[in-house]
Amino acid sequence: PQLANQIAAGEVVERPASVVKELVENSLDAGASHIEIEIEKGGSKLIRVRDNGSGIAEHELVLALSRHATSKITDLSDLEAICSLGFRGEALASISSVSRLTLTSRTAAQEAAWQASAEGRDMQVSVKPAAHPVGTSIEVLDLFFNTPARRKFLRTDKTEFGHIDELVKRLALSRFDVSWQLSHNGQTVRRLKAADTAEQRQKRVATLCGRAFAEQAAFIENQYGDVKIWGYIVAPQACPTQPGCQYSYVNGRMMRDKLLNHAIRQAYGDSLSAEQQPAFVLYLELDPRQVDVNVHPAKHEVRFHQARLIHDFIVSALSDALAQLSA
Ligand code: ADP
Ligand code: MG
Repeated sequence: PQLANQIAAGEVVERPASVVKELVENSLDAGASHIEIEIEKGGSKLIRVRDNGSGIAEHELVLALSRHATSKITDLSDLEAICSLGFRGEALASISSVSRLTLTSRTAAQEAAWQASAEGRDMQVSVKPAAHPVGTSIEVLDLFFNTPARRKFLRTDKTEFGHIDELVKRLALSRFDVSWQLSHNGQTVRRLKAADTAEQRQKRVATLCGRAFAEQAAFIENQYGDVKIWGYIVAPQACPTQPGCQYSYVNGRMMRDKLLNHAIRQAYGDSLSAEQQPAFVLYLELDPRQVDVNVHPAKHEVRFHQARLIHDFIVSALSDALAQLSA
């Protein structure tokens, strides 16, 4: 199983930032409202994610570390309408096969916390009592220590941390209702309070995307049937010449989707000069049965069942909004 897990890790765990992504997505799936991320040496020494989510019951700790064990879908029909960020049950097993991973957790129903870690060649999991408030902490030490080829592929601490910071930024834009803390080598780099009001959300956007974006961006919102788009978009005349804020989400999931990007480009049309880049933070929300997220293990692509319709809706919603902004 160790080797199979390491091979699977090749698909999910590219670098420290991919570990952070998987761990934070688990925290979000567990309903956490506060997430703390501690990094040392760009993540190659330590990645620790601590949440106040539902926790993992003692008897499920071992299962959580084993491959293809997910608590999020129980039968195939669930796969048709995925609402959680995770569903493959691969991340923890993969990460623990290429690092020294410790999982500490406590559910509200438990008096005490428990800690699990997998050790040795056969990845035998041992469980022992621990101290921890309700929620989960996952500590990943020495990433890729046992896969030297991958370890060699890591860039400088600064570069790796840059990827992590960028990821946290994107995640923090996906969940305004969650408070976030990110530190590197003991220093707090980001501290974001939960943003409940429109004003607080705007402030978070300004913190994460920069003042220029926040000052130029207009809030937009549009709906067609049960497909909804909302977010912040910058009028063509104010769009920057370097790629700036370009973030899109589908049902809360960060995306680098061709269809979305194409639709956004098309909405701007000829109004951008050749050097200008669109600037946006956009959220698309639709019935989860209308999207297939099971396209790639890293899950940053989706397939829309009614691709044409979604595309055209985005183009028309954004064209309208941009026309108003330019008027
Ligand atoms: P997946 O997210 O695809 O289900 P993972 O390997 O990422 O698979 O996690 C395995 C299981 O461990 C999850 O299904 C969940 O039950 C549990 N788990 C992992 N992290 C957390 C967390 N932070 N809080 C609560 N449960 C968690
Ligand atoms: Mg997961």
